[in-house]
Amino acid sequence: MKKYNFNAGPSMLPREVIENTAKQILDFNGIGLSLMEISHRSKDFQPVIDESVALIKELLDVPSGYSVIFLGGGASLEFMQIPANFLIKKAGYLNTGTWAKKALKEAKLFGEVVEVASSAGDGYMKLPHNFDIPKDLDYLHITSNNTIYGTEYRKDLDSPVPLIGDMSSDIMSRPVDVSKYTCIYAGAQKNMAMAGVTVLIVKDDMLGKAPRELPTMVDYRTHVEKGSMFNTPPVVPIYSVLETMRWVKAHGGVKEMERRADERARILYDEIDRNKLFRGTVATEDRSVMNICFVMNDEYKELEKPFFDFATERGMVGIKGHRSVGGFRASCYNAQTLEGVNALVQAMKDFEAQH
Ligand code: PLP
Repeated sequence: MKKYNFNAGPSMLPREVIENTAKQILDFNGIGLSLMEISHRSKDFQPVIDESVALIKELLDVPSGYSVIFLGGGASLEFMQIPANFLIKKAGYLNTGTWAKKALKEAKLFGEVVEVASSAGDGYMKLPHNFDIPKDLDYLHITSNNTIYGTEYRKDLDSPVPLIGDMSSDIMSRPVDVSKYTCIYAGAQKNMAMAGVTVLIVKDDMLGKAPRELPTMVDYRTHVEKGSMFNTPPVVPIYSVLETMRWVKAHGGVKEMERRADERARILYDEIDRNKLFRGTVATEDRSVMNICFVMNDEYKELEKPFFDFATERGMVGIKGHRSVGGFRASCYNAQTLEGVNALVQAMKDFEAQH
């Protein structure tokens, strides 16, 4: 049976990315060795890093003065490395969900941290919009897309201080004004690659200012200066970044990714709003186009499990909501297809007709 993958991450990747990466795992560039078996310093691998960096810069229109690096440890390690590298006196954080809260917690280990705004009181079901950003912050940390709750800042905020963005779950899904940011980071396992690599875009002249000695591996300068080759980088995940970036470029770049994401989200939210069984969980203006969260209306609560089983029989995978929200979450990253979204919508309609 055909499967429709709505996993939240690791998640669906374009089929050709998987096939091309698999080919290179079997025989890298026709040299008779696997991509898993070669030195990251070999002349064969360097072009993979170079082209990946060049494509990320091209696709996101990264201005000069910024570096792109590949790291291990997931976005979770950046929750610590960001303040280690950038917190001088005081940092601001927006508390908009589980991941934002985790980032904020780590930052407190390094200095003064202000919660500039929070939507915790709203159960994270909407985003804060009107808040004052103190001008004396070293940076304001935002989570542009809240993967678990399904809220998203779809535009770059206007801020009097440089932004730092955790874009783990919406990078490459829209054009970004990189010049507003000191740093953008993303655990790449949703829109950019298989799991195992973190992509970081960092403004070079903001590095080296933090008033603390940093362990070599924690200091971003190490990785910038060594071109992500200070230690052994995750070569296979980086190769999958390259294939995904080639795919994004061949499919029209981030503007087209944005158009597709908007179209998919519109179709799904329209059905959620129309169907008597379901309702969206998030304030309409803050709805994420990447992670679409919905629940059964109160009077149909007992149908949650039956709908889950019904959709599973139709090939839907990964639509169970995160345990902190319940209900359903359909993650629609760049590789998601209209066919997948339409299959889910049809399942919702057919299930409604039975009840
Ligand atoms: N930030 C966001 C927005 C996420 O969605 C996730 C994971 O889903 C993380 C951070 C943590 O990423 P990692 O598992 O790569 O540490």
